[in-house]
Amino acid sequence: MASTSRRDFVRMATMTVAGAPLMGTVPSIAHRATPTTALQERKLGYALVGLGSLSTNQIAPALQKTRHCRLAGIVTGTPAKAAQWKAKYGIPDKSIYDYETMSRMADNPDIDVVYIVTPNALHARDTIKAARAGKHVFCEKPMEVTTARCQQMVDECKKANRQLGIGYRCRFEPHHLEMLRIAQEKELGEVRLIESGFGFSIGDPTQWRLKHALAGGGPLMDVGIYSIQSAEMIAGQYPTAVAAMTTKTDPVKFKEVEESMTYELKFPNGISASCTTTYKVNGFNRTTAYADRGSFGLTPAFNYDGIRGWRSDRKDLAGPAVDQFAIEMDDFASCIINNKPTSVPGEMGLRDVRTMMALYEAARTGRTVRIA
Ligand code: NAD
Repeated sequence: MASTSRRDFVRMATMTVAGAPLMGTVPSIAHRATPTTALQERKLGYALVGLGSLSTNQIAPALQKTRHCRLAGIVTGTPAKAAQWKAKYGIPDKSIYDYETMSRMADNPDIDVVYIVTPNALHARDTIKAARAGKHVFCEKPMEVTTARCQQMVDECKKANRQLGIGYRCRFEPHHLEMLRIAQEKELGEVRLIESGFGFSIGDPTQWRLKHALAGGGPLMDVGIYSIQSAEMIAGQYPTAVAAMTTKTDPVKFKEVEESMTYELKFPNGISASCTTTYKVNGFNRTTAYADRGSFGLTPAFNYDGIRGWRSDRKDLAGPAVDQFAIEMDDFASCIINNKPTSVPGEMGLRDVRTMMALYEAARTGRTVRIA
């Protein structure tokens, strides 16, 4: 890993653990339209782009539980959804857009943050429009389907002097933060190995998640990314070498993307992570760290709620139940209000897409692939 990216990783990880004290250089991310003092007096307006399952069932309800955010606008290509959301959440007509008109948000001071919740390969398109309209952007994982598009998203947000955050909800989840603390404080000794897996049995064979052009890949891009994130949190670094193998038992349904992948991540500090992801079985959801004097883990690890922790020494690995979407949105809003960089920046999303592209190359070639 280049020293700059290692420094960045340490800075990001530290911000996440502590929640507050920030180390390293804090870039100036001032909101040009509204002075910080005025921002502190009101909740930030979030506009959701893409009113599918996640927006409907998780993000919109979570917004109602936040301290620093409110649902201020929507972007949808479906007029019937616009009417439903308008009625349910009282969104004014002037804050309802489609994908063509969303650039007009530039003239709407009610919207501070645009939250991108469209299929993976549309994230760059929507992020760039939002940044050019002068809005901060929070974007769902995976950041995009190529590193070039991720880089463009980072560049456009920088150019617009706006923050770009990625929806890595587990970075704010108390059980995951406790895993990180145990690892960092070496409470059970030095972590040596990590095992992680996340998958589910995918239904509708026509959905975008099975189309390469929209998803960028199969379960790795969708849920395997959680194991990468978990391993990075525990290891405190980004992986620099990867190996992978894919499996396909249904070549019709999984014509365009992998059905399952087993993959290995090697970290510069000697930790290695063995991971599996799949679209074939339900209930596959865990992460475990093996250290010199014991092990600790989460099963399930990546659900929206009901995460359960354990330690081999039978001490508690617990944490309060939280709404992960509410806390990640509040954290992003508070970064904007306080002019501090997010701990889940576009650079982190870009790095993970680079790792996943290396994993696809490793699976294709059967070779270990190094990541600079
Ligand atoms: P979804 O299919 O339920 O919703 C996608 C939305 O995008 C729909 O409203 C659809 O109409 C709209 N859309 C716009 N253009 C489209 C096009 N060309 N093709 C298909 N749909 C189009 O998907 P979702 O589950 O809400 O996922 C959306 C994003 O959120 C994805 O990037 C996904 O990875 C991410 N996600 C994250 C989590 C999490 O826990 N953080 C969970 C689920 C999904």
